[in-house]
Amino acid sequence: MSSTIPFPPCPDCEGPLKLRFDTTYVYCLNTTCEFDGINAGEVVGDHGQPDRGLPRPLIKGRPVPWIAPVIGDQVAWKALNAVRFRSAERHWLCQYCGDALDSAPTAWVAVAQDEVAAGGGLHQNCMELARAECPALRHDPCFVFAEVRPEDRAHDWSAVIERLMAYEQLHDQVPNIVPLLV
Ligand SMILES: [Zn+2]
Ligand SMILES: [Zn+2]
Repeated sequence: MSSTIPFPPCPDCEGPLKLRFDTTYVYCLNTTCEFDGINAGEVVGDHGQPDRGLPRPLIKGRPVPWIAPVIGDQVAWKALNAVRFRSAERHWLCQYCGDALDSAPTAWVAVAQDEVAAGGGLHQNCMELARAECPALRHDPCFVFAEVRPEDRAHDWSAVIERLMAYEQLHDQVPNIVPLLV
């Protein structure tokens, strides 16, 4: 334990912030401060968060994706760093490592309930790392990882959803990983 205030500090009083058990929202430990119930992704910025690149830094033994907000020594697993989320969308960056996706002709996205999950694309290697490390991604049958081209992003990824639906009609089911050429 360190006696310094965990980063980031409370935007209202500069006191220590704590992540709620839901790993989405934070509150201020200063009892006279009313900062509470704020999404962790809105509190962190780019500064002071783990840098881009591989390998990812470990917190409590688990690799931390670039887009996951870090509050002190806790990871907000269910939140997305809002600043990094916007730059991932704008610049087509990998949500896991933070590096550009343009280096490969295709990337991968997570699809759940006929929608591409928020957070952006992944390098193939990063998708495999994320699945290996995250039990939710590995065991939840709702998550399908689909290989995509950058132009599939147009029209809200409808091209990807249509491809998965066509695959399902042909094969009666969709595997957890769907490459472009199946
Ligand atoms: Zn506060
Ligand atoms: Zn990556």
